[in-house]
Order: sequence, then structure tokens, then C-alpha cells
Amino acid sequence: MELLFPGRCLLCGDELTFNSREGEPLCLACRAGLIPLDSPRRCAVCSLPLSSEKRLCTRCRRREYEFQCNLSLFEYLGDIRELLYQYKFRNRLRLSRILAGFYAQALRAGFPGAVLIPAPANPQAVRRRGWDPVERLCRVLRRDHGFPVRRALERRAGPAQKLLGYEERRLNLRGTIGLRRGTPGELVLIDDVFTTGATASECARLLLLGGASRVRVLTLAIDVP
Ligand SMILES: [Zn+2]
Ligand SMILES: [Zn+2]
Repeated sequence: MELLFPGRCLLCGDELTFNSREGEPLCLACRAGLIPLDSPRRCAVCSLPLSSEKRLCTRCRRREYEFQCNLSLFEYLGDIRELLYQYKFRNRLRLSRILAGFYAQALRAGFPGAVLIPAPANPQAVRRRGWDPVERLCRVLRRDHGFPVRRALERRAGPAQKLLGYEERRLNLRGTIGLRRGTPGELVLIDDVFTTGATASECARLLLLGGASRVRVLTLAIDVP
């Protein structure tokens, strides 16, 4: 049925034609408008685009993270924010292929040979939603792009993180995230949005304890503080 009635573009609402890439719920114009950040001036740690010549953003100047650096492919605004919303909260699972494609491109360019570690989801959120958005992206990255994926971390139910600041989040996370199995070598933690970095930092701390030689973070979007 989907082939006969391809539906409408999730961003502009235009009717999709058969020219749209197979199975993608976006029109060609909206698809072409999704261009990852290519700013020469970005924070050396979290990759936030900067307007000044400074090496670090104000957030990273105040903080020590356990991961080496984060790379975000977009700012968490506009179309990408809308697509993540459609994917995670409206269950538009077909977006996983488009979104995974952005990660795949970045992984090939900047993280050769690294093992992908999905950031563990809050089990309450998974139960509510019935699936795990980051885990699904990692599954597509393994199946369609051949990247090695290891579910090295797990998370127990804990209080929601959304409204907490960095330090509160860090304290909140201790004991909530656990190491399922140590994984040696170069690791890339995969998550959807980089917000305060607290979750990624706790994940990296555990992965380093588990024998990783280096942990970097790759996220689709960075929340602009
Ligand atoms: Zn469109
Ligand atoms: Zn930064």
C-alpha cells in the first residue's frame, strides 16, 4: 500500500511522488535541505558552532567530561528538531533510515574502526513508547552500513532528567547507568541529542573503566544553550 500511496512529506506536507527516494517520508526538496553543520568555528569539545574565535564554548569552559569530544551533525532546531520529534514521539519509524544515513556518513569520515555503543534508554521511556529510538538507529547502522555495534551499557529506571542542570544530572545518573560488558578499543557513544553532556560523560566513565582506549560521542543534534 505504501508503494501505491506514498503519502505526504513529513516536513512540508506535499504529496510524495515516485521520484522520492524509496520509502523515505520526505520530498526531495526537504531532503536536500537537510545539510549537516559545516561551520569552521566550533567548540573543540562539544562541536557547538561559535561566533567568536574562542576554542571552547562557555559550557565546556566550565566542565570536565569523561569523553574526549562530541560531534553533533546539526543544531537542535528547525527541520531536524521536527524530524526527531516525528521519529521519537509520532513513531515515524521510516525516518530511521534517513537519520542513520547522517550518522553513517560522519562515522566513515571521522571514526574509522570504532565500535558503536548505543546510549542506553530509560526503561520507562522504552516501555511507554514500545521501542528505543537510539537502539533502532544503531540497528540500521549495523544492518545497512556494516558498523559494529555493542550494547555495552544498561540503564535502570530513574527520575526524569529533562529539567535538571548538569551537576544534578550527574548525581542523578550515578548508579542508574551500568556497564553490561567491558569493550576494549575505540568506542563511539551514539545518542540523538547532546544536551548537557552529563549522560554521555557518565557513559564514557563506565566505558573507560571497562577497558575502552578512547570514547568519543556522536549525536545527531546539539541543543543550543
Ligand atoms: Zn517536503
Ligand atoms: Zn562546547
